[in-house]
Formats: sequence, structure tokens, C-alpha cells
Amino acid sequence: MVRPKTEEEIELLRENAVIVSKTLAEVGKHVAPGVTTNELNRVAETFIRDHGAIPSFLGFEGFPAALCMSVNDVVVHGFPSDYVLKEGDIVSVDCGTLYKGYNGDSAYTFPVGEVDAETRKLLDVTKASLYKGIEAAVAGNRTGDIGHAVQSYCESFGFSVVRELEGHGLGKEMHEAPGVPNYGRQGHGARLPEGLVICIEPMICAGGRGVYLAKNGWAVHTADHKKAAHYELTVVVRKGKAEQLSTFDYIEKDGTIKF
Ligand code: MG
Ligand code: MG
Repeated sequence: MVRPKTEEEIELLRENAVIVSKTLAEVGKHVAPGVTTNELNRVAETFIRDHGAIPSFLGFEGFPAALCMSVNDVVVHGFPSDYVLKEGDIVSVDCGTLYKGYNGDSAYTFPVGEVDAETRKLLDVTKASLYKGIEAAVAGNRTGDIGHAVQSYCESFGFSVVRELEGHGLGKEMHEAPGVPNYGRQGHGARLPEGLVICIEPMICAGGRGVYLAKNGWAVHTADHKKAAHYELTVVVRKGKAEQLSTFDYIEKDGTIKF
């Protein structure tokens, strides 16, 4: 059931969104060649717990870590590991929190050192498509308007949209109705009422959109092993313009990392 949130609930979701946003920034400070994704996971788990929250991914349906760490051709749901990041890699970091009974959920794809021009473009276009989706997340629109905005933008650059995974409502549960696909037709899909809180999360491939599930049952890889990017923000559907709860400002505007 698609249920708008009360303003009191939105305040709790906002507190989660701030913790998640700051956690991603803290992780970003440590992203560098020579660092393992396990080390980044530890940074995040410590930061989340120090802020009184619980890493909601840890133990979720058996997921073994605080963060999803998806490197290069892994689209989402990668396990942190002893893999040592190297110059030119990208790492998609997805972070979830549980705080005061509500959830936070956002993601950012970080370049490791210098990346090639095509990879830089994939990151820029995927992130820009997220903001296109947010522009469409206004009361009275439908989920298809968001999906169409993301898809048409990314495909205009020759990139492709993963169809098997999608954004979602957020509240007491990590995944609530409605599903928010990153593709679709304008005017189709679930209607967006004012006060609905959703996560919009484009998962975009440099090559084809085919994906497969790794043997561990979690990591989603691109079939052609080209890179994929993933950015996610939480927003409140409002009249005229969505309100962002989570933000990349802590990553991009504090001056310690250049993006
Ligand atoms: Mg997420
Ligand atoms: Mg999500």
C-alpha cells in the first residue's frame, strides 16, 4: 500500500537521511587506491553506531555487512571484501540505517583516483539522471514519470538502465510500496501522493543492460562486465517540487574530496 508519511515521520526519516549522507561522506574520505572495501565497511559501521543508529543492511535477509560495496562491473549488493581498490576503479557504496524505528538509504559511486573519460561520463550521467528523476517526483505524477526521466536521459548518452532492480518507498520498512523503476512511460505506474517518501536510485550500465546474479546469491554483475554506476537519494514527494532528505553535499561540498 502506498502510504504518505506524517510530518512527524518525515522528521525521523530526515534524521536517518542525515546520518546516511554523512556516513557516505566519511567513507568517501577513505576511498583511495590501496584501501580494501572491508576497511571502508568498518569506517561506515563505526560511524553509524557512533551516531546512535544501526546499520540496517547487516543481517538483512542474511546480508553480511553494513554496506553494499559494488566495484566496477558489480551493479549493486556486492559484499565488502579484501579486494584492494586500485586507480581507475569505481566503487558504488550503498548505506542503510535504522534510527528511532525508521530507515535511511542512499548510495554514491566513488571514483578511485583518476578514472578514464568514459567512466567519468557514466558517473556524471547517472548522477544527473537521479536529479532528473527527483524533478519528476512531484505530487500527482506517477512512478512512470520518474522512470521515464531517468531512462530517457541515460539512454540519450548511450548508457542502459538495469530493469531488474528499482527504487522504493521508505519508512519503518527499508522497502515499501511503491516500487520506483528507473524506466517507464510518462503517466503510467503508481500515483505519487504528497508526503510519500521514496528512494530514487538509478542503476546504469556503460554497456548493455543485461545482468546476472553471482553465485553468492547477492552481487548483481553486468553481463558484459562493463562498469555500472548507482546513485540513490531519499526524497519527499511535495506539490510542485520534491524535498530532498538525503544529500551528496557532505561528499561534494566540504572541500576534502574533488568531484
Ligand atoms: Mg540503497
Ligand atoms: Mg534503496
